[in-house]
Amino acid sequence: TVSENMLRGDKGVRSESTVSNGTYFGRALSMAKGEGTLLFLSFTLLALYCLSGLYLPNYQGKIIDRVVPDDSGEYDKSGFINDVKIYLFIMLAQGAFSTIYSAAFQLVSRRLVFNIRNTLFRKILVQDVAYFDGTESGRLISRLTNDVNMMMQPIQSSLSSLISNAFMLVGGLIFCYVKSYRLSMLAFVTVGPIMYLWDLYAQWSKRLNRQMLASWAEGNSIASQALSHIRTVKAFGTETSEIDAYNEANLEALKAGVKDAWGNGFTTALTSYLDLGTGVLILYYGGTLVMDGEMSVGELVTFQLYWNMMNNAYQNLQGLVTSFTRSAAGAEKVFSLWDNTPDIDPNDGSVIDWDVEGDIEFKSVDYFYQMRPDNMVLSGLDLKIKKGTVVGLVGRSGGGKTTLIKMLLRFYDPKAGSITIDGRPYTSLKVDDLRSFFGVVSQDTELFSKTVAENISYGMKPGTYTHEDIVEAAKAAQAHEFIKEMKDGYDTRVGENGSRVSGGQRQRIAIARVFLRKPKIILLDEATSALDENSQTLVQNALDLLIKKSNATVVLVAHRLSTVMNADKIAVIDKGKVLELGSHDELCKLNGVYSMLVKKQMKKRENELNQE
Ligand code: ADP
Ligand code: MG
Repeated sequence: TVSENMLRGDKGVRSESTVSNGTYFGRALSMAKGEGTLLFLSFTLLALYCLSGLYLPNYQGKIIDRVVPDDSGEYDKSGFINDVKIYLFIMLAQGAFSTIYSAAFQLVSRRLVFNIRNTLFRKILVQDVAYFDGTESGRLISRLTNDVNMMMQPIQSSLSSLISNAFMLVGGLIFCYVKSYRLSMLAFVTVGPIMYLWDLYAQWSKRLNRQMLASWAEGNSIASQALSHIRTVKAFGTETSEIDAYNEANLEALKAGVKDAWGNGFTTALTSYLDLGTGVLILYYGGTLVMDGEMSVGELVTFQLYWNMMNNAYQNLQGLVTSFTRSAAGAEKVFSLWDNTPDIDPNDGSVIDWDVEGDIEFKSVDYFYQMRPDNMVLSGLDLKIKKGTVVGLVGRSGGGKTTLIKMLLRFYDPKAGSITIDGRPYTSLKVDDLRSFFGVVSQDTELFSKTVAENISYGMKPGTYTHEDIVEAAKAAQAHEFIKEMKDGYDTRVGENGSRVSGGQRQRIAIARVFLRKPKIILLDEATSALDENSQTLVQNALDLLIKKSNATVVLVAHRLSTVMNADKIAVIDKGKVLELGSHDELCKLNGVYSMLVKKQMKKRENELNQE
């Protein structure tokens, strides 16, 4: 589950999995289910290729024995020509088979990569907000790129050779045994140690490749943060230290890679010595057998050819098994994300099939963030938000106001207690459905690198609005004037994260979004707090109009008390509880926290006025 995953951390190296490599391999392959026909074709051709390949050494041996004269000193010339013809034919057929099957395998594996990447992106986006609190986006990009590549690379490039080599290995073994069981027995003495060596190396390589992926993910995380906050990096002149951090992460990956290369070279060298030794033994003992009249020269050659075939297949397989073991290092990361079902699952819950009114109630809600379980953010919070009313939230920074807003959007579910809308518990509803009734303006609005019009209509179903609707919404949000003056008007692109518009303009685009969306419930979280005096007034006017025009339920967090004064109800939130609740006048009379806050702000205002 999400929480376990987050507690485990995202370093990957720590989470040594006990799942076997074959399981991952099988899973990756099982995703190629839709490719049945193509796979069947390629497997058939592959089998034919292997069978014909297995038959070739037989003919080579035969041809050699044909050039040795028989007892009467005669040569069988027509038999010789015939065998050469058959040999040629088999070879040609083999070439044709291999061309077609390898193309077919490539096609299947490319489609497989395409599917895996698309599905994985979907799997990432359906994770809940808590997951993203715990995982940096750079690491998730790494899942989609490096991890998928490492997982799929051997499947893409060597699935067919894995199968053909396995085939050749088994076939070669059988033929060797048939040709000369004595020679075979001798040769197999060396196979055991070779297998053992490769197995040792493969395990080691998998660990190194895990480290490599983890370092790459770290590098990606550094790069994506530096790039998305490039203006801060520039302003603080931290380019060099960011570059250093990035280098360091990549250096870790390089170190692991170098170790892997040495291990590979060492294992290869050792096994080829063992292998060459076997070759000498076969020549020596086989030569003796020929001299003793136990086998013909042709038979010895055939045995040698089968032995080489089997041995090649075996060596190739060792290399392939190693790369598939590495692939498992990528696969375990891909599949751990793949299997992570979010606590707030977009597929769960019933659709909202009644006319939503917007009556919301918090009943003794407890909440703490997964990353800081010791910090109770909401504790036993009770709050009724009546439909069509404006509720203001005020209180110290860190008191839990934004958390309350995020819980209204069901970014998080209460740890205890419940939230209901029109009497139905939040957790019983389909989350996408629920969110479609909300409109939000937060402190810093996130814009996409799209046009102004696209940003205003973000999240709207195509066909449910016209360009005129967008303009009207922009006018209501007091945004039309500045949009008109931009180079391409509503078609002006706002840059990554809205870097080409000012803070006040960004907020008014966000308000236009809400005007267009006409939500049942409007959430405003300190929408003006990040702005200068001038833009504050403009945005505040737009917000006032929004509240007045819509008859939605409004929950309004304000850092300035003047903006909540007219609210139907004001809740003072502190330490995750509602301390005071009532209208402005009621709370002033109460002479509690709220009236103190009011006095404090009035004094501050006076001081400011005196200074001017
Ligand atoms: P407010 O909006 O009233 O200033 P918040 O709801 O933003 O307060 O924060 C309440 C508490 O929760 C603070 O102590 C804050 O540090 C903590 N907090 C907020 N967001 C997170 C998060 N994603 N992970 C962990 N702690 C958080
Ligand atoms: Mg806040």
